[in-house]
Amino acid sequence: MPAKITSWNESRPRERPPPLEERISNHRWFTDRMNEIYHENRDFLPLYVQRIAEEKMRNHALEGMRRSHEVMGLMMGGRFEWQGKEYAMTRDVVTTELEASEYHVRFDHDALEGLFESLDDLDFDYSIVGWYHSHPGIGCFMSDTDISTQEGAFNMPHHSALVLDPVRREMEAYCLIDGKVETRPMGIYWDLHQDPYRG
Ligand SMILES: [Zn+2]
Repeated sequence: MPAKITSWNESRPRERPPPLEERISNHRWFTDRMNEIYHENRDFLPLYVQRIAEEKMRNHALEGMRRSHEVMGLMMGGRFEWQGKEYAMTRDVVTTELEASEYHVRFDHDALEGLFESLDDLDFDYSIVGWYHSHPGIGCFMSDTDISTQEGAFNMPHHSALVLDPVRREMEAYCLIDGKVETRPMGIYWDLHQDPYRG
């Protein structure tokens, strides 16, 4: 892995209150399980995804579906802390073209390296808060390969894995806690200028 990723992983979270509850929503692709943990944790979610990043991931997954491809990318943003609790905010995503077979693309070192290289093109200093990929038509879960990817490249507590199924129109987020996959509470963040109800 490039050195700068390591240094990002070691960066301390910044002190900042989480987004206001009225700017947070669930997502229409959330599964029942995602909705359940969203409502249970709505006052403080460990993962927030800005609307614009959500849209990019969803469109990427849908566009891959039309070519029968899995897609993947990195979730970029910031790591924050408030009253002793940590959360991540996904502000944007970085994607790459994969040598994609139909399903179960191997997210190997080369693919990840391609993504890390494309980070150089970003003109902001977001850090990696996780990754996303699609499971067209097979539902949302973490496969053994996904778990290895998570363990190898996204092994910090604030790193999440977002899985989208563009066929079933489902979305779930996960993290590893003590080596075990858990569903991660997540919410969509509408920034003031993105709020459709405010024009
Ligand atoms: Zn997968």
